Amino acid sequence: MSQKRAAEDARRRAFINVSLALRDAIEPVYCPSCGVFQPDMVQELRTKLGLSIDPNKYARERLVIPFRIAWQIAIAEDTPEAYRHFTEVWPSATGSVYAAKERIKFLTRLPLVAFTYKLAPLFATTVWVLILLIFLYFIFMTVRER
Ligand SMILES: [Zn+2]
Repeated sequence: MSQKRAAEDARRRAFINVSLALRDAIEPVYCPSCGVFQPDMVQELRTKLGLSIDPNKYARERLVIPFRIAWQIAIAEDTPEAYRHFTEVWPSATGSVYAAKERIKFLTRLPLVAFTYKLAPLFATTVWVLILLIFLYFIFMTVRER
């Protein structure tokens, strides 16, 4: 396993542990038989997560797939879509919603980072070509003076 991969794995493990530790922040105030949040809780969750969120959209999924499993699925998929879906199913899981948002930020920032890394060798090559050209120019001038 490469060093980069090991570092990424360690970061991921820390991320999972933190989010599970923060799990206690859950307030299971949705109805245990239908999964629906009461209107005052809906209002609170919308204020916290954005008005476009409907906390009861996936009420049934809350009853079918337990929180811990849902979170493990999101981590296994590790895509912005998976974390967004998790956030919609478990909007009351404050700690994991926060962790999911951070991960979405990281994952959506990645293409730019990758792009920069791709450009770096090109930049280095350009610099070396310039140094070579300057070197050749000086040799040329020295030869011409004779
Ligand atoms: Zn109910």
